[in-house]
Amino acid sequence: MFWADKVAEEIIQSGQYKPYWVDDMFTPSGFAHVGSLRGPLVHDILYRALRDKKEEVKWTYVINDFDTIDGLPSELMQDFEKYLGVPLRIAPSPVKGYESFAEYFAKDFQKVLIGLGIEAEFLSSWDMYHEGKFNEVIKIALDNAEKIQDIYQKVSGSKKKELGWLPLQVICQQCGKLGTTRVYEWDGKTVAYKCESSMVKWAKGCGFDGRISPFDGNGKLPWKVDWPAHWKVMGVTIEGAGKDHSSAGGSRDIAKALCDEVFDYPNPYNLPYEFFLIGGKKMASSKGLGLKARDLADVLPWEIGRFLFTRTDYKKAIEFDPVGTQAIPNLFDEYQKCADAYFNKGDEDLARAFELSQIGEIKKIPQVRFSVLTQWVQMPNMENTIKKEGLETWAKYARVWVDRFAPEDEKFEIKKRIPEEAKTLTQKQKEVLSRISKELDEKWTGDEFQTRIYDLGKELGLSGKETFAAIYLSLIGKDHGPKAAWLILSLDKEFVKKRFNEL
Ligand SMILES: [Zn+2]
Repeated sequence: MFWADKVAEEIIQSGQYKPYWVDDMFTPSGFAHVGSLRGPLVHDILYRALRDKKEEVKWTYVINDFDTIDGLPSELMQDFEKYLGVPLRIAPSPVKGYESFAEYFAKDFQKVLIGLGIEAEFLSSWDMYHEGKFNEVIKIALDNAEKIQDIYQKVSGSKKKELGWLPLQVICQQCGKLGTTRVYEWDGKTVAYKCESSMVKWAKGCGFDGRISPFDGNGKLPWKVDWPAHWKVMGVTIEGAGKDHSSAGGSRDIAKALCDEVFDYPNPYNLPYEFFLIGGKKMASSKGLGLKARDLADVLPWEIGRFLFTRTDYKKAIEFDPVGTQAIPNLFDEYQKCADAYFNKGDEDLARAFELSQIGEIKKIPQVRFSVLTQWVQMPNMENTIKKEGLETWAKYARVWVDRFAPEDEKFEIKKRIPEEAKTLTQKQKEVLSRISKELDEKWTGDEFQTRIYDLGKELGLSGKETFAAIYLSLIGKDHGPKAAWLILSLDKEFVKKRFNEL
């Protein structure tokens, strides 16, 4: 059974997670890495699997825009350093046209998620806090500060924090920073806090001492508490996270203990999903390795971008190393295989991987292999064939692959002058080219012509390899290339005749 259907079945059979509410979240503090798409896609696929079983399901995606700016991409460091410590929703957008730092990066990521067919309702954490929805859980957390510290210590083995520690930070009324405030007293209505100059390394507080209500968006829970608090406030029953969060004593264990012992809320179903690796390394946006999520659509059609995540069980790592490899052509091949299983009632898991990768209506897909298309786009005069076969969309990606990812030996171009390499041609090879040129005016299909070329070589005592090498060496200056007959037929006849007779 397909992995998402298995998970859906397990959830339904357990009878524990009703009403079904799938949730995931994202902190809009910079451009998300392509690996960050695994979370939302795993959740979206599970959401669809549950829905396909005729279950009522809600699916929300929380933008953590109340989080603090605690680091910056290097290009923003100079202009935005003063906003370190400020909530993402308060700092200005790096680009005109957006209301805040958070909105800019959230919209950027959201565009990709919507492109990938993710059907979640997007929610703002900032808004929920400011609408007072978190007031109850803030009160519970403050009343149970001691217990929360004990849980931290018991579950993760962390050292006990200082006496009087409270699980909250408030926005400083003087400097507007959130990441620098230490809340140290709670009287049931208001909290006392100090905006500390050296509590964190990355931001400096103003020293202000104040007292304020912790409710209605004045304050925010630290994220280990904030996470299960979201579950209770919203009613989430299914939420996974990267497996690093799910390690023993990690944030997921703490969240579970807080559900049990503080919030009195049932622990949601967990999906500890594996990493998305590129070139064998875990991709981290901060290191600038690999692709950003926003770049995915330049490289793959949306459905195939979705397929890249859908086809693999969430428990298995995805390795995707597109540079200088066949990873992208192989992905298209696999996608075609799954489409074939879907349309021709083949392997059920493959069919389901295709089905769950679709966005909107299920459409037939091209039959031509992507690797063939990567050759066509390098041949002249193929535009009509590409159009006729309905391959324009895939051809666009084939061109990108050739330009950005293809190994050198997959690239070729028709040489305007006789290539240097053609000097190695033997007399017999030159003869076969001359004979081929005499048959160019006949009506050929690619397959027939390919056979004919082979036979012409054979008549002269040439092996297939020698015959085809003659063609490649004289046209593209390499001893190998795309299917020779197609290559020749794509060219101007007079050009080929001239070339094959002037060697
Ligand atoms: Zn301050």
